[in-house]
Amino acid sequence: MVNQEDIKIAPSPFQAFLDDLHSKYKSITEGVVANYIPELAKVNPNLFSICIVTVNGDIYPVGNYNQLFTIQSISKVFVYGLALEDHGRDYILTRVGVEPTGDAFNSIILDEQSKRPYNPMVNAGAIATTSLIKGRGATERLNRLLAMYQRYIGSDVFVDISVFTSERSTGHRNRAMGHLMLNFGMIEEPIEEALDLYFQQCAVMVSCKDLAVMAATLANKGVNPVTKEQAIDSSCIKDILSVMYTCGMYNFAGEWAYKVGIPAKSGVSGGIIAVVPNVMGIAVFSPPLDSRGNSVRGVKVCEELSQHLGLHQFECSSKSSHFLDSLFRNVEMNGNGN
Ligand code: GLN
Repeated sequence: MVNQEDIKIAPSPFQAFLDDLHSKYKSITEGVVANYIPELAKVNPNLFSICIVTVNGDIYPVGNYNQLFTIQSISKVFVYGLALEDHGRDYILTRVGVEPTGDAFNSIILDEQSKRPYNPMVNAGAIATTSLIKGRGATERLNRLLAMYQRYIGSDVFVDISVFTSERSTGHRNRAMGHLMLNFGMIEEPIEEALDLYFQQCAVMVSCKDLAVMAATLANKGVNPVTKEQAIDSSCIKDILSVMYTCGMYNFAGEWAYKVGIPAKSGVSGGIIAVVPNVMGIAVFSPPLDSRGNSVRGVKVCEELSQHLGLHQFECSSKSSHFLDSLFRNVEMNGNGN
């Protein structure tokens, strides 16, 4: 269990750096809160938090890090992991591809030849993935999803019923995708059950701190670094991080890979997670979104974190090793590791 009381924010150069980052981007007012799911439009646009959890279990939180919100598309990462565990990668690949689309997260497109949705991070691919989650009936399948979230977070989770019903009663576009895939034999009846499970997985409540622990679990070979519980088989991590890297930020994925250079996933409620393998999980929460559906502050914070700490996977300077020293040995950071 990760309790609020467990978090002692020790003064450290790294914490001070995150505090400064938070102050720097707090005043940004760009972006629009998602409103196509009516319940999401009610959120306070000023909420803003950053949280980093290392693979050692150290937590560095800033801002409204305990504020709960619905996980939305960030759920796709974890449900994809469960589907991989349930069926193995070869079978999953016959149902959902791993190609970036370059299109919006909700585009109604399938691969011309295979009829598969392009990847599990866009809505069509996520709905197909969710339809593969094992269980005898709707309740058992939902319980398996909730138990999965619980392993990643370290405490009980619940579905926000108002967001779930709000999306269920307005989600005609997702329903259309479901029917298109049913037509091509990519998902099976009962289709409403798969759609409900998808809307439920998106409406699970998490905090920015929870998301950072979840991301850190992916960074830590599938072991929750706080509870030490194995949340997912380590053999699935490579596949999950690969699709996050190439498809996690939708039609911004290429620019993200170029500028930030670490696997990530965003959601329309304003969350972003990013994973630095074997080092840490990053989470940012700020509801106003850009035109691609990514959190405006979230993207800016991750860009600066990556540049300043040398987190890009293909970074060749000594920046990142300097950062790792500062993080794990708590030595002074000057951000000038070149
Ligand atoms: N539940 C949302 C939808 O299906 C999730 C989208 C997102 O976060 N990008 O539209």
